[in-house]
Amino acid sequence: MMRVALVSMPWLDSHVPSAALAALKAWVAARVPGCAVAVWPEHVAVARRLGRTAYRAIQEDSLAGEALYAGLVYPERRGVLPGLLRTAFAADAAKAGMPPPPDADPSGILDAIDAHAAELAGRLAAAADVVGLSATFHQLFANVLLSRRIKAANPGVFIVWGGSLLRGAAGPSFMREYPEIDAVVQGEGERPLETLLVRLAAGQAPPDDGPGLLTRGNLDRFPAGAPVWEADDVAALPLPDFDDYAAAADPLSVEWRIWLQTARGCWWDRSGSTGDPKRRCLFCNMNERRRYRAKPARQVAAEVEALVARHANPRVVLSDLCMRSTGLAELGRRLAAPGRQLQLQIELRAGARPRDVLALWEAGLTVAHTGVEGFSTAYLRRMNKGTTAIQNLELLKTCAELEIGNPFGLVTGFPGSTAAEVAESVATIDRYATAYPPPGFLHEFDLTTGSAVDILSADFGIEEVRNHPRYAEFLPAEACARLVLPHRAWAYTPAGQPADWTPLYDACRRWQEMHEAIRATALREGRTPPKALAYLDGGDFLEITDCRNEARRLTLSGVWRDVYRECLETRTFADLAARFAGAADAARLREILDRLVAERVMYAEEDRYLSLAVASRPDIAARRMKRSRKKGTVRG
Ligand code: SF4
Repeated sequence: MMRVALVSMPWLDSHVPSAALAALKAWVAARVPGCAVAVWPEHVAVARRLGRTAYRAIQEDSLAGEALYAGLVYPERRGVLPGLLRTAFAADAAKAGMPPPPDADPSGILDAIDAHAAELAGRLAAAADVVGLSATFHQLFANVLLSRRIKAANPGVFIVWGGSLLRGAAGPSFMREYPEIDAVVQGEGERPLETLLVRLAAGQAPPDDGPGLLTRGNLDRFPAGAPVWEADDVAALPLPDFDDYAAAADPLSVEWRIWLQTARGCWWDRSGSTGDPKRRCLFCNMNERRRYRAKPARQVAAEVEALVARHANPRVVLSDLCMRSTGLAELGRRLAAPGRQLQLQIELRAGARPRDVLALWEAGLTVAHTGVEGFSTAYLRRMNKGTTAIQNLELLKTCAELEIGNPFGLVTGFPGSTAAEVAESVATIDRYATAYPPPGFLHEFDLTTGSAVDILSADFGIEEVRNHPRYAEFLPAEACARLVLPHRAWAYTPAGQPADWTPLYDACRRWQEMHEAIRATALREGRTPPKALAYLDGGDFLEITDCRNEARRLTLSGVWRDVYRECLETRTFADLAARFAGAADAARLREILDRLVAERVMYAEEDRYLSLAVASRPDIAARRMKRSRKKGTVRG
């Protein structure tokens, strides 16, 4: 029996299992005879040793975790680590408004991960014939260290790496630099790993001709990476196996989340199927797949039910890169089970209709990760996001109404962005978006490997692309020069130089402070914190309470109330003209809409209108959305 250990090293969040390794374990168990496969969730073990606060601070800094393990691979560079760590801890603490954590002792942390890696390498050298290492979450140098120590203890162990940090030329560069790596899987792992393990189990050499697999025999043929090998039918993939993670996490009372993909790829990304790198969000490199493949909603619901029951765990993340564009309501309906309370997290994209979000909320949606990225439609078009500012506002509004957590992010500094786009973003925030909770993250544009901007860098005014200089702080210069690393530095040509995005950072700070002040004032006065902009429908009048800036109330009656209610979901002017024919002619309708927009309680984009105030309670919003679902309108 060939023993296969699939290992997840730090710095994956300790509250989640490795979805990739859970899927691979299930696939290997089903497809490779004579093979005993297990997942080793070592990120949980290390998080336990370091303490949650220190682990999280390192995990949040994209280079601190790599630097720590690199310091054990290259001990001569170890002297710089305390400073790097203190910076990471200070940044994390500042984000939370806290002093640095008491358990953030750099030398203690180094000793702890050193001892863990030594002990783990010894156990794997004795217990595994093949070790698979996942490199997706700042795990590159943890994997180098572990590979080196396993080989030192038992050179006969076959070591194969996989994961998104090894895409393209990165995989070959790591294989060349570190002879301990016997093979690298590139792209989806199931088929290449199966082929490899079948050969190894038969006592044969690794295959040099299988797609998706770099070996010592074919490395020179694929300097830019091997062609990938994707699963044809995602519905035929077995249920991911989280048993090993659960066995590690449950005794520690870790509130972990079942991590399930309902699809592979991104439906908006058509770069793989068309060969045009620009047919997707131009900054994005998250999707390595050529094709989008989704499981039927019925199957997703059955898989969720099976996993929730197996692990007695109602916390589920549907971890698609971008949730399906159609069939969301069906998915929600199928996931909703009487008597069961799921805690669902889902990646949602602007454009999702309120009634679809409602169906997911009824199934237990508590946190939505929404790809908002911007509040200027011109800027969103520049990034080929495929969404508009009014769609973003409608999604924020729906989440706010249903009290769905929404730690959305904004992307600043995209190449070529203009001062006009910054000004439009700031105006939309200050005048309208502040009706909803502020963003969770501001991401300055990053040149990610394999994104359209990376592939066509000259088109975007980008030049002198190189590894980020921070790597040189903890890696030897020669290794730094040879490796293809995930974080890069670059220069802009005059055409690519983005505008100054400081005004947007300032606007988001004001936004945050405004919401904190609304909350603090209410708590001080013994009231439940109100929504920043909410409506109450009094039957023949509608009252809007606006707590942004100076608190004020607006009362709308007659056709004003009716128009506002009609636009609680986005409507075109043509829709409204037809709906209010007889009650208000086009000129009167324009006058009403313009006034509501000027009052900052409605948003207009081109010929579309959205009332911004949220229902005062989620059940009121849900009833309204249900009526809309039945009638295709908010009337009634
Ligand atoms: S950002 Fe999201 S929607 Fe855009 S291409 Fe990437 S995965 Fe797809």
